[in-house]
Amino acid sequence: MKNVISTNLGYPRIGEHREWKKALEHFWSGKMEKETFLLQMQEFRLDHLKKQLDQGIDLIPVGDFSMYDHVLDTAMMFGLVPERFEYKGGKVPLETYFDIARGNRSAVASEMTKWFNTNYHYIVPELNQRNPAFVENRPLHFYQEAKQKLGINGKPVILGPVTFVKLAKGYDQQELKDMVELFTPLYAQMLGELEAAGVEWVQIDEPILCTTLSAEEIHLLKETYETLTKAAPKIKMILQTYFDHLDYFEEITSLPVHGIGLDFVHDDGQNLKALNTFGFPQDKMLAAGVIDGRNVWRANIEERITLLEKIAAAAKCEQLMIQPASSLLHVPITVNNETELTPTLKNALSFADEKLQEVALLSKGVKEGKAAIEKDIKASKAAIETLNGSPERNNTKVQLATANLEAMNAERQAPFESRSKLQESAFQLPILPTTTIGSFPQTQEIRKQRLKWRKKELTTEQYEDFIKAEIKKWIEIQEKLGLDVFVHGEFERTDMVEYFGEKLGGFQFTKFGWVQSYGSRCVKPPLIFGDVAFLAPMTLKESVYAQSLTSKPVKGMLTGPITILNWSFVRDDLSRFTVANQIALALREEINILEKNGIQMIQVDEPALREGLPLKKEKWDNYLNAAVHAFKLAVSTVKNETQIHTHMCYSDFEEIMDAINALDADVISIETSRSHGELIQSFEDTTYEKGIGLGVYDIHSKRVPTIEEMSTNISRALKVLDPKRFWINPDCGLKTRGTEETIEALKIMIEAAKETRETV
Ligand code: GLN
Ligand code: ZN
Repeated sequence: MKNVISTNLGYPRIGEHREWKKALEHFWSGKMEKETFLLQMQEFRLDHLKKQLDQGIDLIPVGDFSMYDHVLDTAMMFGLVPERFEYKGGKVPLETYFDIARGNRSAVASEMTKWFNTNYHYIVPELNQRNPAFVENRPLHFYQEAKQKLGINGKPVILGPVTFVKLAKGYDQQELKDMVELFTPLYAQMLGELEAAGVEWVQIDEPILCTTLSAEEIHLLKETYETLTKAAPKIKMILQTYFDHLDYFEEITSLPVHGIGLDFVHDDGQNLKALNTFGFPQDKMLAAGVIDGRNVWRANIEERITLLEKIAAAAKCEQLMIQPASSLLHVPITVNNETELTPTLKNALSFADEKLQEVALLSKGVKEGKAAIEKDIKASKAAIETLNGSPERNNTKVQLATANLEAMNAERQAPFESRSKLQESAFQLPILPTTTIGSFPQTQEIRKQRLKWRKKELTTEQYEDFIKAEIKKWIEIQEKLGLDVFVHGEFERTDMVEYFGEKLGGFQFTKFGWVQSYGSRCVKPPLIFGDVAFLAPMTLKESVYAQSLTSKPVKGMLTGPITILNWSFVRDDLSRFTVANQIALALREEINILEKNGIQMIQVDEPALREGLPLKKEKWDNYLNAAVHAFKLAVSTVKNETQIHTHMCYSDFEEIMDAINALDADVISIETSRSHGELIQSFEDTTYEKGIGLGVYDIHSKRVPTIEEMSTNISRALKVLDPKRFWINPDCGLKTRGTEETIEALKIMIEAAKETRETV
């Protein structure tokens, strides 16, 4: 095939050294003038375009750059400023844009939520606030900028109307059609203006097409795109999907658009199967996503070429675009700066820039034949083979254990009803027991000492003594406050996944492998590249020390297998569930050791359980069953008297209540304040009978809540939940809070608990 174009769907915003983040934060704190800030942003934007050009990409995306979030950008293009922010119409001022994302003194920020099953968060548009108007042609602006400054004839990237409306809130599902129709003319105007400006290609993202949609929704999509293509008939519009396969393959590929973008990496082979079954309209262009846009492993070039050959043979279309399977927003920028990884691992990695080189290479291979890229084919194969042959990927002990999982018990000895009685008599807790979620403030001082230790200015012994002193201080504080169940405070941890990754076998850490999580916040996911192996106790010292200081139970504190999995870059030569089970087995050893050393309550946090849900409903059961199994594999060996806790953040549990119940944890604590009571409903509808702590105050805010607020939250929950099962705790860990405000808030929480105890 000769007619091939290499392209990209989106490039990371943050910069190789997080320059973007730094500029944003300087601007927000008033340390940078607006003019300088805007110039810097433009510099980053243009630099990112140049870099893509340098990697050999033919068609460069423009307008995917953002100063916060692309969903918010889209909302702003339509003037959707929530009423609580001042706005006089026209182009939304930069200050207002950031206020909506971050809140200001007089108005709370818009809600943010996860972008499909990624760890990227978008700002949820509020459609019930103002009528949309087309106030700014953002894609046009960035198209012209790229053309004038760099001579690039770019491909504007636009978030499509159906996905945009589906991801927004402020309307009922029955109003979906009306809502989309409200936006269609605005999109039509945008596309018309792009066409008039000479734009050749446009990429319209509709990832919602990879979720489970109804036939009516597909019909709505069809009508929408018929209108849009009429509005700009000369533009070559690529309808781009990603993160899974299309359910309505025939309907969607026959839309009147110029091309269809499909994900051939996260589709379980279904898109190729559909191509073989239904064929592909020959006058259309197929944009084939064949390089993983969400993971960090080097592609096997030969295997990718074979896949492309199969795609081309099945599609028989005029033109092929070769591209990553999704935006590269979800991967770090380049492997080049990583100097501390082992060569075997480094050589088998591919971040955004390397992925674009792979795309360029594949298009060369398809155009000129495999022989033209023979050397690169061999190199990629050798890199992967070397990694596969490494001792870390061949840990026979771990592999044997995961191969024999069926034989391994994953059930507690007795059912909850009987073990809860044993636990009651073992712990003798008052009704409505009080506790916290795990971490206490990570002060400047703690970070300073840790840095000194990392730089070897402190010996390990000195650092550990420092941590012990912090633990002691906070055990005393908890004693004074009168909490019923204590925690050690997690002072030794920077991050709840990194801490365990550093102590388990099979992990490595990058130096610059950051990805955007929300706004300017970036995370640096660990690489799970080998078999996950327990090496030595990870939390024993701190837990045992804390317990030795008090007669109150101190909860052992671990991060659960699904959260470690979902917040890491995971090897792709094994199924994710196998990796989750390996992690679970390592935690199982840790839990046994904790129990043997006198720890009687153990909390295994799974804040990321919900976000791993697949896009398609039909895959939920599979995921949830595997997640529940991994969790139970980790916790089920303990005695009946040992109390297992778990904790989850984020609301919206209604649909996964059965799985939460199936975890069979003795006590669960859940964040509630951001769901404004909606969460309690979920528990009303299903009879949840185990211990449960619904966060009684929001830890995300500096403000110390009043006793009335907390009491209201408690009594609201007690209308639905049995007081015998109810625990009183904050929403989440307290590590981001200040010391004084934490003590103050907990004092009030305990007062509220005591007051309520008298009434039940
Ligand atoms: N135990 C952790 C903490 O308290 C839980 C954090 C989380 O839920 N994200 O920080
Ligand atoms: Zn939490």
